[in-house]
Amino acid sequence: MYKDLKSYLLPQYLIERDDYRCIRCEVCARQCAFEVHWYDEEEDAVFADESKCVGCLRCATLCPTNALVVRPNPTQPPPNANWTMEVLQNIYKQAETGGVLLTGMGCDKDYPIYWDRIVLDASQVTNPSIDPLREPMELRTYLGAKPDALKVSRKGGRPDLQTKLTPQLKLETPIMFSAISYGAISYNACESLARAAAEVGTYYNTGEGGLHRNLYKYGANTICQVASGRFGVHADYLEVAAALEIKIGQGAKPGIGGHLPGEKVSAEISRTRMIPKGTDALSPAPHHDIYSIEDLAQLIYALKEATHWEKPVSVKIAAVHNSAAIASGMVRAGADIIALDGIRGGTGAAPTMIRDNVGIPIELALAAVDDRLRQEGIRNRASIVVAGGIRSSADVIKAIALGADAVYIGTAALVALGCHVCQKCYTGKCNWGIATQDPYLSKRLNPDVGARRLVNLLTAWSHEIMEMLGGMGINAIESLRGNRLRLRGVGLTQEELDILGIKHAGS
Ligand code: SF4
Ligand code: SF4
Repeated sequence: MYKDLKSYLLPQYLIERDDYRCIRCEVCARQCAFEVHWYDEEEDAVFADESKCVGCLRCATLCPTNALVVRPNPTQPPPNANWTMEVLQNIYKQAETGGVLLTGMGCDKDYPIYWDRIVLDASQVTNPSIDPLREPMELRTYLGAKPDALKVSRKGGRPDLQTKLTPQLKLETPIMFSAISYGAISYNACESLARAAAEVGTYYNTGEGGLHRNLYKYGANTICQVASGRFGVHADYLEVAAALEIKIGQGAKPGIGGHLPGEKVSAEISRTRMIPKGTDALSPAPHHDIYSIEDLAQLIYALKEATHWEKPVSVKIAAVHNSAAIASGMVRAGADIIALDGIRGGTGAAPTMIRDNVGIPIELALAAVDDRLRQEGIRNRASIVVAGGIRSSADVIKAIALGADAVYIGTAALVALGCHVCQKCYTGKCNWGIATQDPYLSKRLNPDVGARRLVNLLTAWSHEIMEMLGGMGINAIESLRGNRLRLRGVGLTQEELDILGIKHAGS
């Protein structure tokens, strides 16, 4: 890279400051880790270097007088459907750096969002609806292998369950927090997720970053991941978890490993991940001991054996073309939970081209996997959890009707913490104190406030799910699982409808 190469990049955002409103408080200057704003004493004015702005909106949100407007730069090249501004900017960047384009969060391409093309049914006249404020409504969900039939005998006049159940995760609402590693996000963000999961009665997931010792007290609500790098995996880590998850793939970057840059590997991260401070943490693309379903079965067995067969084991894959066949193998390998992560799943850092061009939408993968497991008569042997672009309670309930037992939310949870999806997580300078290890920035996220915001989000979504269930005349989320008759497609082709296993609206 030539240092003095003139950049042809245009600012992505324009910053407009209303000088009449601006009180020169310098909040924007102090709050921006990208050093966009500065106060000039001589001019008694605040200026901005727009070329550095990433659009995180921290400045505009905290400006006490609403003096700031940050908007996408409307300057565009001559109209051209092929050579859009984004394409040109990417080429300029690479011509200037010679590097792989990096990004954060999930794919932002205009692929169809099937959740928005699916509508829910509601009871009218017959099968009356249920008022969830007056009648009981069950959102409790159990994840893990279920027996096909239960054997019950009578003991002292009371039913006595004879069938031995395998370990289950008990969720008070069918929503968990996705795998996000300590390293990708700050300690305060991890603590917010852990505390919210404990308060709501659900689970958060360590990702591949190990588990900070201070968070062991939330172990009963923690899913501990075992990824290809085996970062932070040791006996105590396995022991403290409520469940274990083998990470094979991730929706944002199917087929490749992870990379936590050395600058983010602080003393605490180094201790937690069991890697030297300041060194890059590279997790390989494959597990070096998994090349077949049999190898996967061995690792599942080893983890169950190491934890006395007391914890369910999940296996997470990215949603790809043949997810259904892979999922079938995973179930036969002994996975209790299948976690599917779609193309819109988030990440702390991924090559842009991989994030935006590899994988498939979660809706299609879910329908295909649920179908396949049903056809093979093994659907009960594992629960399905889906992730990758769940944005609202409506997405959750549609996912469950399509065949999921529960969902993971990642981006939505970070948005609840303040994230504005600027996609610059990989810089480590998150102005919202989330995707950073900078102690000054991390302090911006108070875990008391973070946990409260997350609890509020899950509470609100749970209420909405209950209302939608009631509207369908259903009083338990379990009764909706895989009930695709309660869904209809709008504006979808016959092929899409066939894959989703739903009818078109009006039929
Ligand atoms: S935060 Fe708002 S009021 Fe304060 S200096 Fe910046 S633009 Fe002016
Ligand atoms: S976590 Fe922070 S850096 Fe990442 S997208 Fe959200 S606001 Fe931007």
